[in-house]
Amino acid sequence: MASQYYELTEEQRIFQDMINEFAVKELGPLVEEAEAKGETPTELFKTMGEMGFLCPRYPVEMGGGGGDKIMECILVEQLTRVCAGFAGAVVAHSGLGTMPIHQFGSDEQKERFLLPAIKGEKIAAFGLTEPNVGSDTASLQTKALRDGDNYVINGSKMFITNGPIADYVIVAAYTQPEKRGWGINLFIVEKGTPGYSVSQKLDKVGQHSAETGELVFEDCVVPADNLIGGEEGGGFQQLEDTLVSGRITYGARCLGTGQAAYDLTSDYARQRTQFGKPISKFQSISFKLAEMAMHLDIMRSYTWRTAHLYDQGVDVKMEASMVKLFCSETVQKILSEAMHIHGGYGYMMEYDIQRHWRDGRVFTVTEGTSEVQRMVIARELGL
Ligand SMILES: Cc1cc2nc3c(=O)[nH]c(=O)nc-3n(C[C@H](O)[C@H](O)[C@H](O)COP(=O)(O)OP(=O)(O)OC[C@H]3O[C@@H](n4cnc5c(N)ncnc54)[C@H](O)[C@@H]3O)c2cc1C
Repeated sequence: MASQYYELTEEQRIFQDMINEFAVKELGPLVEEAEAKGETPTELFKTMGEMGFLCPRYPVEMGGGGGDKIMECILVEQLTRVCAGFAGAVVAHSGLGTMPIHQFGSDEQKERFLLPAIKGEKIAAFGLTEPNVGSDTASLQTKALRDGDNYVINGSKMFITNGPIADYVIVAAYTQPEKRGWGINLFIVEKGTPGYSVSQKLDKVGQHSAETGELVFEDCVVPADNLIGGEEGGGFQQLEDTLVSGRITYGARCLGTGQAAYDLTSDYARQRTQFGKPISKFQSISFKLAEMAMHLDIMRSYTWRTAHLYDQGVDVKMEASMVKLFCSETVQKILSEAMHIHGGYGYMMEYDIQRHWRDGRVFTVTEGTSEVQRMVIARELGL
């Protein structure tokens, strides 16, 4: 599409073409099997790591792409277009599961966890949600209490993307339970640590190629060196910074799924003939497609604009929630219309549109529901 508020630079355009080609040629052929088996094709993490774009925003010296937030959005959009499940696994790794270490971690933590993650040699996960605590983050029940040179973690984490396959997980827990919200810290917990286990792999409606699990911590002892930021308190701010960044990327996830739905539907409408002509020639169908294209353009402009501001160091806490809210709600309309235009065939498993429809349904829920985004926006507006 031509009209975009933010024009990509030459470098970003080249990157977009490269990722698009990678997603179609390398990821595309793996999708059917990965979705059927419910397994993440983790070999692609290594391939992407070696090529330097698994974590496009981190410095080249660390093995990253040396790019910006827009490049991360481009990566996520192009991967999601082909497979939202795999893209979800990448986002949990390259964003949520590594950003706190990149931004707040010690040199030793970076060496041990971040560098191998950037190369795709270690897989990361991010554990905030609990069985009894979702939107109300300040009510977390997991605790990490100091014991000499260690912390002892007790609690559980629910719906954790990459949980079943992760080499380490960043866990949010209270170090000072009496300080609501502000007493939270983030810890790195390695696979194999006694007391840490994946209690179940969860069976989802969509995004089957992202593996999701429940994690349990029972008297799980981690060295105090694994506390991100090095001192108690401050984890809430680290969480917030991580989530703001994630909400911008979320716009790109919605875009990828929306664009895939539009492309499939536009092709289908041109091919499907009823009453002697392609259904795309009926005004009611072409108007729906026109609106879908318009919404995608707005979503892309809005996401990239916010990513651009974020890259300039502007505080975009409110805008990031607006991106997440607008894009995740708008893509529901796109997916619903896309299914409708496919008629009965859309409801058949052999047509790809059903996968995007299932995959995209959860977008209004994860990384803060639409209600949570409205709360953030209203608060930022001083309401
Ligand atoms: C596929 C998938 C992957 C996920 N990956 C991760 C992950 O990697 N790491 C992680 O930590 N979490 C992850 N999650 C969890 C996700 O972030 C939570 O599901 C989400 O934050 C909502 O929490 P909840 O499910 O407990 O819903 P609840 O918080 O129980 O909310 C239920 C409903 O009530 C509404 N609600 C709650 N409070 C209010 C209020 N004050 N006013 C109005 N409405 C309200 C909500 O908007 C929602 O509609 C994942 C979830 C899924 C489904």
